[in-house]
Amino acid sequence: MGKAMSAQKEIYALFGDPVGHSLSPLMHRAAYEAMGIGALYIPFRVADIEAAVRGIRGLDIRGVSVTLPFKTQAMAWLDSIDEAARAVGAVNTIVNRNGRLEGFNTDWSGLAEDLGECMVIQGKTFAVLGAGGAARAALYAIVREEGRPFVISRSRTKGEALAAGFGCPWQSLTEIGRLSADCLINATPVGMAPAVEQTPLPGLDLSRFAWVVDLIYNPLKSKLLAQAEAAGCFVRSGLGMFVHQGAQQIRLWTGLEPPLSVMREVVLETLKADDRNKAC
Ligand code: NAP
Repeated sequence: MGKAMSAQKEIYALFGDPVGHSLSPLMHRAAYEAMGIGALYIPFRVADIEAAVRGIRGLDIRGVSVTLPFKTQAMAWLDSIDEAARAVGAVNTIVNRNGRLEGFNTDWSGLAEDLGECMVIQGKTFAVLGAGGAARAALYAIVREEGRPFVISRSRTKGEALAAGFGCPWQSLTEIGRLSADCLINATPVGMAPAVEQTPLPGLDLSRFAWVVDLIYNPLKSKLLAQAEAAGCFVRSGLGMFVHQGAQQIRLWTGLEPPLSVMREVVLETLKADDRNKAC
């Protein structure tokens, strides 16, 4: 057997269900290739998350990206969970340190890093639309960076509980017409491909928000962002958050600096190749 054939490659994985649509394998593999790391990144559609997490040690998988619907469930079988991931209530990254499984959340820090590239978060007001996992990550990021968020959601019970957990106000979605903030963040899946004709805020004048950020990155320009641009807002898609959360996973797993521009380009190219994004 030749030398290349026998070389042992480190294994990284993605746990989710579904995983077929995920751009993480493409982005991670492009990064490892550019870094000259002989590593594999394998997506698994997980049937049993407990067995899958236990299998990390058995298979000597060095690191795992965790996606929906397992970001909270996976926490139960880890040896430790970092403070931020505990506060967000979700783990999207598992590091296997010699058999010890450590949980992290790079969604919040990926968003903080991306927003930090285009604005100063400190002191600004943020209207966070949605009451799910992405909203939690956004609230944690904003509070940690000393911004001033409030939650807007259709469900009062969920929205109020979420807002209370971060010590911020809650507003009903029915009141959106009279609310304003420096930045609106869409943390709902409304408008995500294939439902690209949808917007969570149909007919709303968005000019009361200087910035509109959509955590969706497929399509690159959601209907909400097109609506916001027409109203004169600065806009930002979820692409930067996605790239930064993946880059932080690679830092945690390898201790090395990942090639952000390579990662961004490969995701961008793939999304642009999609018909829905050709006009962006
Ligand atoms: P989730 O946990 O299912 O939460 C979705 C939230 O959206 C729920 O609070 C839901 O309300 C609300 N919602 C759904 N449809 C709505 C509608 N028509 N009007 C108002 N609210 C509505 O999902 P998630 O994990 O937070 O993800 C949300 C989005 O963030 C997804 O598009 C995901 O792709 C994106 N995301 C992006 C990144 C990135 O790296 N860029 C990372 C994570 C997530 P109810 O509670 O009432 O059902």
